[in-house]
Amino acid sequence: MGKGFQVQDRFAGGAQYIGGRLRPGTSGHHQDVVDPATGRTVLRYELAGTDDVDAAVAAAREAFPGWSGLSPAGRSEALHRLAAVLAARAEDFAYAESLQCGKPVKLSTEFDVPGTVDNTSFFAGAARHLEGRSAAEYSGDHTSYVRREALGVVGSIAPWNYPLQMAAWKILPAVAAGNTIVLKPAEITPLTSLMFAQAATEAGIPDGVINIVSGAGREAGEHLVSHPDVVMTSFTGSTAVGKRVAALATSTVKRLHLELGGKAPFLVFDDADLDAAVNGAVAGSLINTGQDCTAATRAYVQRPLYDAFVSGVATLMESVRLGDPFAPSTDLGPLISRQQRDRVAGFVDRARAYATVVTGGEAPGGELADGAYYRPTLITGAAQDSEIVTSEIFGPVLVVLPFDTDDEGIRLANDTPYGLAASAWSTGLYRANRATREIRAGCVWINDHIPIISEMPHGGYGASGFGKDMSSYSFEEYTQVKHVMYDNTAVAVKDWHRTVFGDR
Ligand code: NAD
Repeated sequence: MGKGFQVQDRFAGGAQYIGGRLRPGTSGHHQDVVDPATGRTVLRYELAGTDDVDAAVAAAREAFPGWSGLSPAGRSEALHRLAAVLAARAEDFAYAESLQCGKPVKLSTEFDVPGTVDNTSFFAGAARHLEGRSAAEYSGDHTSYVRREALGVVGSIAPWNYPLQMAAWKILPAVAAGNTIVLKPAEITPLTSLMFAQAATEAGIPDGVINIVSGAGREAGEHLVSHPDVVMTSFTGSTAVGKRVAALATSTVKRLHLELGGKAPFLVFDDADLDAAVNGAVAGSLINTGQDCTAATRAYVQRPLYDAFVSGVATLMESVRLGDPFAPSTDLGPLISRQQRDRVAGFVDRARAYATVVTGGEAPGGELADGAYYRPTLITGAAQDSEIVTSEIFGPVLVVLPFDTDDEGIRLANDTPYGLAASAWSTGLYRANRATREIRAGCVWINDHIPIISEMPHGGYGASGFGKDMSSYSFEEYTQVKHVMYDNTAVAVKDWHRTVFGDR
């Protein structure tokens, strides 16, 4: 399983990828990449400083005319080659992603890596379908048409929960549209973003088109967002940091795309298939150890199914196998760090004062004591306005609350500033359809929770941000449209000139 390469050797050249090669950072500060399953440091590297960000932006700027000037077919071919390189290195990517995140290898192998390859193939095709609408003689005297153009150098910032997929989601629409990019991954998980950029070079994508600066948010991140040569900021992360990024980007008049936090409701009507809802709630709340911005976090269950749902979820949660992420039988890995584990435990411990912890609510100890593990946790009896129901916890924790009428269920689902994703469970066509219309979120699933596909947009409403990742809709973020207008009359004095000089 992809253990053929040693991380230390692979990144001996440093953890910055600028102008088509690895180099060390120059901030003077070092960062450990830690395996959260064991607490062992797998790589220590020098973080990017502001000089490294400047160098990466300069490389991206230099690469822009050539890359944006390539034909759509040329960019498409390069991205198809990248998809092939990624697929050929699938085991290495799955290994590195599981190592730095603690993800079960079955998740990185079956979800993170193939999802990234598919996204790359999708954007290889989509690169040839960029279009401007309308070409006509709207004024009567001119031909007007719309050109869709690349923006320039995009500066993107990604979180640690799905480092490879987040890098792909940021890089692919940007470069497919002809932009060049500087991506700052979360400093604790830079490995697979660097490998993605290396794969791009191997696929023949020119130096400088994709650059990675592995640096701290406050230093490298803020410098990238404020940089005068960066025309757009695309940020995925927490709502709190997103607000800071938005303020910085606005002060330099940048285009902005924000993918922020979530607190997804999971709405179970009394005509739902109970078995399907129980399985869906456990999978949807525990995927990636609950560190998923779309994870099911608040289950609202109509009173007749409530007790059976709670006991079904508790039983299934107790059967989930925690363990070594590289063991094929492991269902649930650790959280990203002990700090994150303690943060999650803090939410659960405070909730004990006002709610019931039905199962979980503790770290496992024993052989897993050195890792950042936490047991799947089910909570009932919390009030709608309590912290455990309203705050993003980002851990393997599901809260269940009952409701009576359909109106009440939909009102509770919408009772949040977030709006990233939601699901509704019902066998009734009209009920399910009502939920899709009335729930305010960028994605509403019916009788499932979590699946994503390259062809469909991903993005939030409200405090979950704005703008779309994936799908052709993402090109709206990464391109600008230009109106071109040709005079068709060939006369020196146009009719409209009389509004400035002379009479009719
Ligand atoms: P975070 O906001 O702490 O960090 C995200 C990124 O921002 C990191 O690269 C970090 O280094 C950088 N950063 C931190 N401070 C910064 C600053 N002042 N200026 C510029 N950059 C800065 O988030 P996280 O803890 O890495 O990730 C978890 C969060 O991400 C959760 O809230 C989750 O919901 C969200 N998320 C959202 C989506 C989505 O699609 N909406 C997807 C994944 C994760």
